[in-house]
Amino acid sequence: MTTITVTQECGPLRVEVVRSVRVSPHVQRVTFAGADLDRLHWRGFDQWVRLFLPSDDPASLDHVPQRLTRGTYVKMRALPARRRPSVRSYTLRSWRPEVRELDVDFVVHGESGVAGPWSVSARPGDRAVMLDQGCGWTAPDAGWILLVADETGMPAVLGILRDLPRTVRGVALIEVPDLADAQQVDHPEGISVEWLVRGADQPPGRPVLAELALRDLPAADRHAFAVGESGLATGVRRHLVRDRGWGRGDVTFCGYWKR
Ligand SMILES: Cc1cc2nc3c(=O)[nH]c(=O)nc-3n(C[C@H](O)[C@H](O)[C@H](O)COP(=O)(O)OP(=O)(O)OC[C@H]3O[C@@H](n4cnc5c(N)ncnc54)[C@H](O)[C@@H]3O)c2cc1C
Repeated sequence: MTTITVTQECGPLRVEVVRSVRVSPHVQRVTFAGADLDRLHWRGFDQWVRLFLPSDDPASLDHVPQRLTRGTYVKMRALPARRRPSVRSYTLRSWRPEVRELDVDFVVHGESGVAGPWSVSARPGDRAVMLDQGCGWTAPDAGWILLVADETGMPAVLGILRDLPRTVRGVALIEVPDLADAQQVDHPEGISVEWLVRGADQPPGRPVLAELALRDLPAADRHAFAVGESGLATGVRRHLVRDRGWGRGDVTFCGYWKR
């Protein structure tokens, strides 16, 4: 079974690496280009993609079908692991249509996994394929917003801050492993953006959850968005719904990875 959303709106986008730069201790920014990006439907906010990366076999990307349907996707996934591409989820950090360049910020989390290590070793000309998945953020009609993320959710929260109407008020709590991972933020004046540093011995989510527990929160006209390590996302929701009496519909949350 797959829960993948197969959108034919722009189809699979075949892209090439232009550059890969370590922008901070735990963030590797890979810039992609390619003629297929003319078909990108840029939505902003936390727009994300399924990113297909080559396995040991460089030809594995050729198995991403040009016309992706549920059937052709399942067929590709049924290939032996070394022949099919690996698939991971990533947020589109920024888009410069004038030069047709797209940035993705990869958290560098050591030697394990596929996408993190791939980003560090990516060289100009390396290939990947993207499948647009739209946005998780659905523009709730609320005047006060709480945004909570760890470093994997940082691109999503920074994108939302960049694209929100300038009249919205609220708080963004962003947890990073190192203060040097904090990025410049373009945000509505009425949203206070606060960076919290996670100690090496602390599990992800602990600093933001501790901070959230101390906050006064508005009684109405509010919405929360929490993304990052699974315990962070579910912890924020549990705290708001169980301890603060928020409605379930007042919280959008998504576990981006599992510790
Ligand atoms: C909608 C969505 C958007 C996302 N956007 C981004 C994004 O913009 N940038 C980003 O970096 N991530 C993002 N993620 C999270 C990313 O998909 C996961 O971190 C993914 O597991 C990374 O793949 P990998 O191949 O490096 O590691 P995997 O092969 O998936 O995992 C290997 C091991 O590494 C651990 N691991 C995975 N990620 C981390 C991490 N960040 N820190 C510590 N340990 C980890 C796993 O628990 C596992 O033990 C997003 C996820 C979703 C669902």
